[in-house]
Amino acid sequence: MKVIQRPVKTLQTALLSDSKDLIKLYRKYTDQERQLLEEGFKAGQQGCLFQLITVHSDSDWIPAHPEEPQDFRSFWRDPHRTSPDPAHNTIYIQTIGSFGEAGPQTDQYVQWLRQYCQAFFCGLSVKLMPPVTVAETQCSFRVNSNLHNLQILTGDLLQFLAHRKPKDAFCIVGITMIDLYPKESWNFVFGQASLSMGMGVFSFARYDNHFYSRNYTGRLSKSLQPKKGDYSVFDGYYTPPICSSLLLRSCKTMTHEIGHMFGIRHCQWLSCVMQGSNHLEESDRRPLDFCPICLRKLQVSVGFNIADRYKVHLKAYRMSSSYTSSQVSLHYPKPTEAFHDYKLWLQRCLEILEK
Ligand SMILES: [Zn+2]
Ligand SMILES: [Zn+2]
Repeated sequence: MKVIQRPVKTLQTALLSDSKDLIKLYRKYTDQERQLLEEGFKAGQQGCLFQLITVHSDSDWIPAHPEEPQDFRSFWRDPHRTSPDPAHNTIYIQTIGSFGEAGPQTDQYVQWLRQYCQAFFCGLSVKLMPPVTVAETQCSFRVNSNLHNLQILTGDLLQFLAHRKPKDAFCIVGITMIDLYPKESWNFVFGQASLSMGMGVFSFARYDNHFYSRNYTGRLSKSLQPKKGDYSVFDGYYTPPICSSLLLRSCKTMTHEIGHMFGIRHCQWLSCVMQGSNHLEESDRRPLDFCPICLRKLQVSVGFNIADRYKVHLKAYRMSSSYTSSQVSLHYPKPTEAFHDYKLWLQRCLEILEK
């Protein structure tokens, strides 16, 4: 295992930059906000709020994809990045296909995701589009030749989303419990996005703890060859059980992918939700939130107050157990066990901000 420890000076330049106007902008943060952001310089020390990136093997993202890390300055100067504006300030979530057998629990799961993104991208509005079936998207699909599970074609889903994207959207994100493939020759893909069009589609199928096991229930009989255009094969098709680790992984994927929509690239500074990931174990290693450098990128894009963002997040946890909706009575307790450490971390951040 290798630890990526960058000199404090490098982290300082990555956060503040070396250009006068950006340093001036940084000075507008309150003393407490700067103290929180500069906690990142102490990463690796005991009790620090931020951790160092660890590389566990050559198949991890950083050794597999060598690229220039994106500091605050290069983010700020990127002519292709997009920020929300008053006419485009809503993140839309489109569910595709079934999210579970139990209707109310499914509805609640998707509401949890919405609520989480709403707190994470504090200041923007996050809305659910009416759900659609796989048939409604008219996408191509296939049975994977190795695992014999159903897969749907990402390009068709992106095209479908492009037609549905509301005018006030900052971005639209399609999510599904069905596995995805980007083209015939590929085995699978976790997701695909078009940053210039502000949209992406992501699958949570492989976040199922049993996905790679021999008795994974999403495998179809080898003799079954569904006909092109016959979407009945999706009726009652297996979906992963909704549990704490699935919710945690889905929240992480959603916020990571939406983070890219702002032009935030893979983080190579500190342990961060924006770190690239090549496999599930590496995704699980990522924390739920941003490092200070990525936090500054998001903050200037959205304009939220940093303390408010953490407060909204904590409030969402307190409210979750008594959540009710006008359309449906929801009784499922939110499986937040996996979020316990994150909650404590948010509290520690707030302690600094409210000193
Ligand atoms: Zn990514
Ligand atoms: Zn980061």
